[in-house]
Amino acid sequence: MIPPEFDYHAAGSVDEAIGLLTGNPGEAKVLAGGQSLIPLMKLRLASPKVLVDISRIADLSYIQEKGDWLVIGAATKVNDLNDSKLVGSSYPLLADAAAHIADPLVRNMGTVGGNVCHGDPGNDLPACMVALGAQYVVRGPKGNRTVPASDFYQDTFVTALDPSEILTEVQIPKAQPGTGGAYLKMERKVGDFAIAAVAVQLSVDAKGTVTRAGIALTNVGPTVLNAPKAAASLLKKKPSDADLLAAGKLAAEAAQPTSDLRGPADFKRGVVQTLTQRAATLAWSRAGGQR
Ligand SMILES: Cc1cc2nc3c(=O)[nH]c(=O)nc-3n(C[C@H](O)[C@H](O)[C@H](O)COP(=O)(O)OP(=O)(O)OC[C@H]3O[C@@H](n4cnc5c(N)ncnc54)[C@H](O)[C@@H]3O)c2cc1C
Repeated sequence: MIPPEFDYHAAGSVDEAIGLLTGNPGEAKVLAGGQSLIPLMKLRLASPKVLVDISRIADLSYIQEKGDWLVIGAATKVNDLNDSKLVGSSYPLLADAAAHIADPLVRNMGTVGGNVCHGDPGNDLPACMVALGAQYVVRGPKGNRTVPASDFYQDTFVTALDPSEILTEVQIPKAQPGTGGAYLKMERKVGDFAIAAVAVQLSVDAKGTVTRAGIALTNVGPTVLNAPKAAASLLKKKPSDADLLAAGKLAAEAAQPTSDLRGPADFKRGVVQTLTQRAATLAWSRAGGQR
């Protein structure tokens, strides 16, 4: 349980961190909260020769509304999401998820950037970002680029991030009247990764008709899964019980679970169906929809 030897650098700025990554091609990794990377190194499943610590870069930690976006700095701790009055009052999907990530100790160290960059299908924030229609600002030697969260996840631990790039900011469409979301997660015990979890974000008009829907799934595939058919099935409707049930079934069809210690694949599909139905019901009511 002792990691292989590595060099450690505490970067003072994003540019310094990028310089360290480009100066050590194929050998360096970003270290944020260390809650996923250090366990992997201890198990010798990862053995970077150089760690570039970005956790001390002060201007990478913030949660604020700016223009059309809620912007979150990559080094913001998951606990800061829990503590944020803005997130608690206007971004219920994020608040739901943050409260169910690991335990308070891990949330106090783990960062939003680390959670969305790690590429583990069990991480909870990627599904939220996909359902919310978020985008990621990524900086590398050639400057900034923006990647939609829905294009970022390619396979287990494989993302659109180049090894010399750092995610600097997550941008989420600013909450408007008539928007609401919910994240529901089934776990074996408190603090565990999900058996399955579902993120739903809806926008409704004054009559409660759904005008935008995003649905994404955690830990039922090689990476986070978008469920666009399930989301589309709710559009232009004041969803009835039958519509919500149908959306749950479509989400279950989009899931690609495998049987493992967290349960058989069929059981996980059933969990996705039920959680989608319930999360969509809650999201619709939080967005202002009423029967
Ligand atoms: C006991 C335990 C239970 C947990 N349960 C859950 C859970 O239920 N749900 C959940 O979502 N997570 C869970 N986690 C994971 C935890 O939330 C991690 O903190 C998080 O996934 C990674 O964040 P980090 O800041 O610690 O990243 P690190 O471990 O430092 O890094 C993770 C990966 O992301 C890369 N990275 C980090 N930041 C950046 C950046 N800004 N730019 C580019 N690359 C970056 C690193 O190079 C590394 O590859 C658990 C962890 C533990 C130890």
